[in-house]
Amino acid sequence: MARKWCLKKGLELDMGFVLEDLGISGYSGANMKRGALGALQRLCLDGKLEAGTILLIEALDRLTRLPLPDAQELLLSLINNGLTIVTLTDDRVWTKASLTNLEDFMMSVVTLYRGYQESDYKSKRLRETFKAHRANSSNQAFGSAPGWLTREDKSKPWIVDQDKADVIGLVFELSVCGLGSKAIAEIANREGWEVPTRLNRTQGRWHAQMPGHILRNRAVLGEHEYRIRTHEAHEKHWQGASTGQVVADFYPRIIADDLWHRSRASISTRSVARRRDNHGYNIWSGLLYCGYCGAPLHRKQEKDGYSRAQISCSDRLAGITKCPTFSAKNAEATLLSQIYLYSASSLVSGRGAVTLQNIAVLEVREKDLDAQSRRIVEAIAKTDGMVDALLPKLTSISEELKEIKHDLGIQRQAQALTDDDLVFDETFFTESMMHLYVNSDEARVVRASLHLKLARLVQTVWVWAYDTAVVEFKDGIRINMPLPVKRLPSRANPSTKHHRPPKEKQESRPCFGKAITGTLEVPPAQIRNNWASPSKRETFAE
Ligand SMILES: [Zn+2]
Repeated sequence: MARKWCLKKGLELDMGFVLEDLGISGYSGANMKRGALGALQRLCLDGKLEAGTILLIEALDRLTRLPLPDAQELLLSLINNGLTIVTLTDDRVWTKASLTNLEDFMMSVVTLYRGYQESDYKSKRLRETFKAHRANSSNQAFGSAPGWLTREDKSKPWIVDQDKADVIGLVFELSVCGLGSKAIAEIANREGWEVPTRLNRTQGRWHAQMPGHILRNRAVLGEHEYRIRTHEAHEKHWQGASTGQVVADFYPRIIADDLWHRSRASISTRSVARRRDNHGYNIWSGLLYCGYCGAPLHRKQEKDGYSRAQISCSDRLAGITKCPTFSAKNAEATLLSQIYLYSASSLVSGRGAVTLQNIAVLEVREKDLDAQSRRIVEAIAKTDGMVDALLPKLTSISEELKEIKHDLGIQRQAQALTDDDLVFDETFFTESMMHLYVNSDEARVVRASLHLKLARLVQTVWVWAYDTAVVEFKDGIRINMPLPVKRLPSRANPSTKHHRPPKEKQESRPCFGKAITGTLEVPPAQIRNNWASPSKRETFAE
């Protein structure tokens, strides 16, 4: 139509500037913010528009569907800045000159008003329809389904893409092992896993946050939350606004509850350094503190060299203290073997029974509160005007409900943990020792599981370099152990070039001596890296 008009008038059509904002809403004004209309408007306002430029549109109400004051302002701002608008259906020309004519001006107002009214009516009807769908939990109206599901049309059942579902299973398994989103994405890319999301702007590559998104997406459990997906809601959150209305068994379930809870448990236990530890060598992350001053101990990885890594007091690194630095290799084997021996002798028992009981108690309370709040809501509906007395009660109930739901989540995570997640036995100990310094995906997974188990067993470890270590377990028991004294590489390894056998000398460990007599004082552990503390990470994740 536009081309025909140009031919008739002998004008040139600029195809490089086609405002075909198909499907972008003119009702909410989205076409002004995101679309080509916005670009045109900016050109106009900046005075960069060539004189005599003509905008061809089907009809005036196609320009915008905004409420009248905004629509008229838009039209006038375009025209006052020298743009000529031609409407093709009625073959009218709108310029500054023609709008001085009262009849033409009124005509533009009326057309714009009709455009708004029509859109407003359609939008209201659409909103009513979606509301009705939500009310009867229909699965006809929804946003976009998770990427692992397809269906022929809205009346047919969901079909699970098994390959994608398997990939999601793998993501959850690795998360249970203690790997974070970034590490899982690395493995997925290396092994060429299919990306299971629908939107994929990364050409089949996994980006670092993708596993995290999947691990938080309750659609894997079959749940669906209705979201409001208007232009305004999408501005605030890319997924639209939450309605809080969750429907269970909406989609086919692809992850079992237990796996979900175990993954949540791993995510909340894990404590990770923000950077530098791409291979997860620091199995002690968040647990290790300086015995001399209580500051956290930092691990600095070495590519090669005897020690593999140096562990130093962070206050020493900051120049505040002179606490000695030690090699990771020196302390790690001793620490791990002592922790293994302790945990093997005191097997965690009766854990399952206790959490089951806690869950039962919490569930009863939850049901009770739920019923109470429903009764109050009904009462409020019946008595008009008596609301003031009931509202505080309702608020306190919903607050308690929130707390109980939180506690239930934690208890269910604990319940879902299996012996695999907890037991620190000989097989696991031997396997860990073999993988402590190896750079491979397999070793990385082993180290991640080791970190999780340590974080579940151990509260704090204090180290006095080359002297002694004190381990406090979660059950409050403390054990202390002597650490191997410092040996230079050539002394420890007879096959090196300049090997000299170590001198016979008394190995002195002053702190261990004090530990044995019970006079060793342990400084309070200074938890500084808040960004790595589980509680903070959890709130960030939700
Ligand atoms: Zn220190």
